[in-house]
Amino acid sequence: MDSWVLVDRFSKLLVVVVTAVTVATFVWIGFRTTSLVEASVLTQARSYADLIVAARSWNSGYGGVYVKKGIGAETNPYLLELGVDPDDTLSDGTPVTLRNPAAMTREIGDVLPFSVNGSDFKITSLKPVNPNNAPDEWEQAALAAFERGEKEQWAVADRGDNDRVYRYIRPLAVEQGCLTCHASAGYKLGDVRGGISIVLPYNDVLKELRQSRFQLAVVATFVLLGLWGIVLGLAHWLKRRLRGAEERLREMATTDALTGLWNRRFTLETLVRELERARRSGTRAGVILVDIDHFKAVNDDFGHAAGDDALRLVAHALKDTVRPYDVVGRVGGEEILIFAPDVDSESLLALAERLRVAVEAIDTSAVTGGRPLTLSAGTALAAAEGAVDVDALLARADAAMYAAKDAGRNRVAEG
Ligand code: GH3
Ligand code: MG
Ligand code: MG
Repeated sequence: MDSWVLVDRFSKLLVVVVTAVTVATFVWIGFRTTSLVEASVLTQARSYADLIVAARSWNSGYGGVYVKKGIGAETNPYLLELGVDPDDTLSDGTPVTLRNPAAMTREIGDVLPFSVNGSDFKITSLKPVNPNNAPDEWEQAALAAFERGEKEQWAVADRGDNDRVYRYIRPLAVEQGCLTCHASAGYKLGDVRGGISIVLPYNDVLKELRQSRFQLAVVATFVLLGLWGIVLGLAHWLKRRLRGAEERLREMATTDALTGLWNRRFTLETLVRELERARRSGTRAGVILVDIDHFKAVNDDFGHAAGDDALRLVAHALKDTVRPYDVVGRVGGEEILIFAPDVDSESLLALAERLRVAVEAIDTSAVTGGRPLTLSAGTALAAAEGAVDVDALLARADAAMYAAKDAGRNRVAEG
């Protein structure tokens, strides 16, 4: 499998993992925020309950307290109903009336600022003296739970039309002061017969939570897009580098580093393949083997580096001269093979001659101080029919090339 396919798969896996982790993280943050907010509302409800309990037990400790009678401080009719006369007169004649715990608590409830913003509380009991204090369904269930020993209850309730409130209720034990009024109902000291029921507005809290969830979702989206971008960007960059590396490897495996021509292995492989193709298509192909004349002398007289430069010049001259579909490969030190498809003996010979002339015409002033470079070439035309014998073909070209050398070099010989 190609390594960049692996990168592709790995990056997809990474995208899935990154997405899962990010989504899980943000969902967790969302739940955590919600539970923190709920905990703070519960704390608020508890502290209200603490305050009310404190005020009640203060009043209850005195068996009720007297207030100056007047507008807003009238006689409590429920006490009259219970046979308690709440009214009295001070020695200076000032009329006073008794405020029992329940009445005081109710009045405190009316002046507490949170009764304005939709919050409310009441003392409820299963056998209320004041019918307004009768428990609703939820309170009834809570009071029943308190009788079984539970210490508090809370819930989010919908009052219709999506008007949500936070409800909290805590048991209220019967104290000495309660018995004044409630003893007739059979209450005993320490009984749990009632509860402090608190209602807190919750719509704004829910709105804030919704907003914070929306903001979290927006942030999560941007974080995800950013992470996806990084992962996919990195994968893209890695794939490009891998493709480049593969390209370079392929090039190294097929190309001759010094001249840029095809290397020996690739040239011979191509030769086998192309000769077979030519045979099947019924066209003729040929090869030209060239060897630079007296190349050893170039190295000896001008140095190995100049020899390399000369080799490069010859390679370029050959490449510039052949047809685009001819194949030029370095098959030995300074031996170069040209594969020429679709030729006959004449055109093959003409091509070899053009190559010879091109090399002879190279400006060698920069490498050999002007001493011309020449080559000897041998051609061999593949048989028109029958199996392709590559070795025999190359041997013929080689023999022809040596014949050209023997004949005085800088010439072409037909094999
Ligand atoms: P001839 O005309 O008979 O071919 O004479 P020659 O000197 O070219 O003889 P031969 O082909 O046997 O010698 C090849 C020389 O080419 C030997 C070696 O020093 C040189 N040669 C082969 N490969 C390289 C190369 O990559 N760089 C350089 N600078 N020289 C090379
Ligand atoms: Mg040679
Ligand atoms: Mg030579």
